[in-house]
Amino acid sequence: MAAALSLFEQNAFADETIALLDAAFADPNGYVIGITGPPGAGKSTLINSLLTHWRGAGLTVAVLAVDPSSKATGGALLGDRVRMRTDPADRGVFVRSVAARGRLGGLADIAYPAAVLLRAVYDKVIVESVGVGQSETDIDTVSDTVVLCIQPGSGDSLQFMKAGIVEIPDIAVVTKADMGPVASRALADLQGALGLAHRESDVFEPLCVPVSALRGSGFSELLSAFEAHRVWLANEGRLAHSRQIQARHWLRSEVLTNFGRQGIEAVRGELIADVISKPFHDARQLLGRLRVSLSVL
Ligand code: GDP
Repeated sequence: MAAALSLFEQNAFADETIALLDAAFADPNGYVIGITGPPGAGKSTLINSLLTHWRGAGLTVAVLAVDPSSKATGGALLGDRVRMRTDPADRGVFVRSVAARGRLGGLADIAYPAAVLLRAVYDKVIVESVGVGQSETDIDTVSDTVVLCIQPGSGDSLQFMKAGIVEIPDIAVVTKADMGPVASRALADLQGALGLAHRESDVFEPLCVPVSALRGSGFSELLSAFEAHRVWLANEGRLAHSRQIQARHWLRSEVLTNFGRQGIEAVRGELIADVISKPFHDARQLLGRLRVSLSVL
């Protein structure tokens, strides 16, 4: 996996890279869970519990930690904090940190291709990002299920409501639920905020789960919430549809990152085209054509 990711980093558009990524896209075996929330909310602690649980059940797990390039996290990289507690000899676990530079929306250039590769190989893929504002809402463009972590007493649920972040999660976790009344208040605030968020029709009603890693409580409820969302997605082709939306979003952001609005205008028709079966091949074609046509203008 490390070699495959560096293949992408060294030459994203080599034949070998494109073939590998499109083959991975066509064969998604695993499931991607995006976990976001402010620094210190308890994301790494939760991820370690999930990792231990899933490994214990014989499942393979990958963690892709997207670290903001700012100093907002204060301290060790997210990925390092997870890796510190894993067994380096365990080949069923893969942990990788990537910097969030290079892409609008708080994710890294490599986040989508990496998620596609990882979900072809690992049973459970966790993409972790630090969410402190509107720009981090892009976690849903690489994840099947989005989890927002909020800690009690932070006043974050109101901020999140203002920033529109509460429209993103499928599951909202109040971490550190052992903190007593402040935890209960945070849960009520969050439920209120989620209730107010605007939603389209045919959407999953987000679930709110209080979890204490310290006491080990709420964990089985969290697993049930994952399962509820997975089952919902499995119906009526929603998962396949959602992955098509992710691929289209990635194609669009490739064009936007490289050629701006002008690029989007030039390929508008193709960006809403039929089913995408080879997004990486398509991206190379689109960017190649734009390079020629826009440099001529
Ligand atoms: P991250 O920055 O979101 O990854 O947060 P961490 O997982 O590093 O946790 C931040 C701090 O919260 C650490 O000091 C943890 O020990 C603490 N913490 C995590 N989970 C719990 C919990 O369930 N209860 C309490 N009381 N503290 C917790």
